[in-house]
Amino acid sequence: MTNAPKTRRIAVIGGGTSGLAAAYTLARARQAGAPVEELLVEAGPWLGGVVRTETVDGFVIEAGPDSFLAEKPQAAAMARELGLGDDLMGSNDHARRTYILHRGRLLPLPDGLMFLVPTRLWPMVTTPLLPLSTKLAAALELFSSPPKSDRGDESVASFVQRHYGEAMVENIADPLLSGVYGGDSAALSVRSVLPRFWEMERKYGSLTRATLKSMRQRRAAEQANNNSGANSAGTGIAPPRKLPLFMTLKGGLQQMTERLAAQLDKYHVFMRSPVQALEFSPGGPAGAADSCSRRFLITCAGGKVFDADAVVLAVPANQAGGLLSSLDHRLSELLEGIPYSSSMTVSLGFGENARAKLPAGFGFLIPRKEQRRMLACTFVHAKFDHRAPEGKAMLRCFLGGARDPQVLALHDDEVVAIVRKELREIMNFTAEPLFYRVHRWYASMAQYPVGHSGRITAIEQRLQDLPGLYLAGNAYSGIGISDCLRTGKTAAEKALEYLGVGSSQKAEGNRH
Ligand SMILES: Cc1cc2nc3c(=O)[nH]c(=O)nc-3n(C[C@H](O)[C@H](O)[C@H](O)COP(=O)(O)OP(=O)(O)OC[C@H]3O[C@@H](n4cnc5c(N)ncnc54)[C@H](O)[C@@H]3O)c2cc1C
Repeated sequence: MTNAPKTRRIAVIGGGTSGLAAAYTLARARQAGAPVEELLVEAGPWLGGVVRTETVDGFVIEAGPDSFLAEKPQAAAMARELGLGDDLMGSNDHARRTYILHRGRLLPLPDGLMFLVPTRLWPMVTTPLLPLSTKLAAALELFSSPPKSDRGDESVASFVQRHYGEAMVENIADPLLSGVYGGDSAALSVRSVLPRFWEMERKYGSLTRATLKSMRQRRAAEQANNNSGANSAGTGIAPPRKLPLFMTLKGGLQQMTERLAAQLDKYHVFMRSPVQALEFSPGGPAGAADSCSRRFLITCAGGKVFDADAVVLAVPANQAGGLLSSLDHRLSELLEGIPYSSSMTVSLGFGENARAKLPAGFGFLIPRKEQRRMLACTFVHAKFDHRAPEGKAMLRCFLGGARDPQVLALHDDEVVAIVRKELREIMNFTAEPLFYRVHRWYASMAQYPVGHSGRITAIEQRLQDLPGLYLAGNAYSGIGISDCLRTGKTAAEKALEYLGVGSSQKAEGNRH
């Protein structure tokens, strides 16, 4: 008679997107027969972290993230895996137009601008958004050669300035980064925030040449696919489709976090349980015969204690640092040194007639020099279908970030008054909102300052001395939803492998 393998417990601390992805990966392994149980410990009263959707009279309001970049595949793949494939929808890219506030006027970003890289001549020549010096710099950039020696890391501002000049930083790079990261282009690392551009420079020198080349290659691949007609017929491989820029779910992103949570063993999910300490159980690690036999002790506020054979720490890095102070002081310091920005979203719903008063497009970004408190405003009803009832409009304004953390201290009424005043002054938009929602997200958006990649290497080195402990979240290798799903899944897979209880790939293989 063979003994059944001992069931190992893996605890996930933090129930945001990263923690849910980790716990879900463990649940899938358990469902496939791996001797493992997942335990999820979350401080707050809900799962999903900053992902929260509310529906009000047919308006779908995203309190935190509203979509994910389609070119990063994990989020759409996870939605399909969870049975939400029919709810996936792309942004209305045919109507895509983003404005920048420039000297008090909304000017469209020039067509053909691929994030920061101009790829079309005429719109670049004619845009009033950039001075002649930037246009000349952009033309000369085409002839840049790769750097002769490794330049190391630098800020996004200095990188963009070297390639396209100061106005590109002020009028385009900085507002884009404040709108996406709540960050400051003079502080953020180009290597960690824009790794593709950093690589392009190393390989080609010119970002414009590199981008044009990759566009040509993509078009050629699409053409080759079209020419092969039914092409993939018989190969089982679908031809590549042109992806929308953003994707989301019809009912909001909370659909995904709810589906992830639904797969978990509900008897092993503990909410309202802020973890206060993470230690080895007495006797370990020195007392443990081997590292796999030592256990972690997880102490929550109120005295609840859990034990586990491995731990995925999926809380913000500054929180993770605090929890690890007794296990590894240096690791704790490294984690606590990752800065976070705080931000705020203000969603306003409007009745019929409001749409007609808005410029066509997805919304606008506001450079620092315009001295406004809003960082960006999205015309949600235009960016995605199914977000507002037929004919009605919804605006989502983004405030705070590294530029203006103080705004989070204002009362909701004061914030809404500021937003409405700025909407009136910028667009002459005076419609009366049907409702508003204000959401504050304190220290929730990790910032990757210059030197971030070196810090991550140091963190990884320290973790090698703490086998059984894994990190997931937006502080390490990308802040988007897809990045968080990836880090959560990878951390859980490593924990399964460490305990020798099968990986999720094996689990998947067993299911089918
Ligand atoms: C306003 C806003 C808009 C965004 N927009 C987008 C977007 O459009 N597209 C996109 O891709 N990304 C966007 N992001 C980024 C993305 O949403 C986040 O990076 C991601 O959701 C973070 O997930 P997470 O699980 O790592 O962290 P979180 O969601 O912060 O979850 C961490 C969890 O840990 C819990 N926790 C903390 N401390 C403890 C403790 N001691 N014990 C137990 N639990 C603890 C918290 O309660 C929380 O539930 C946005 C972020 C914000 C804030």
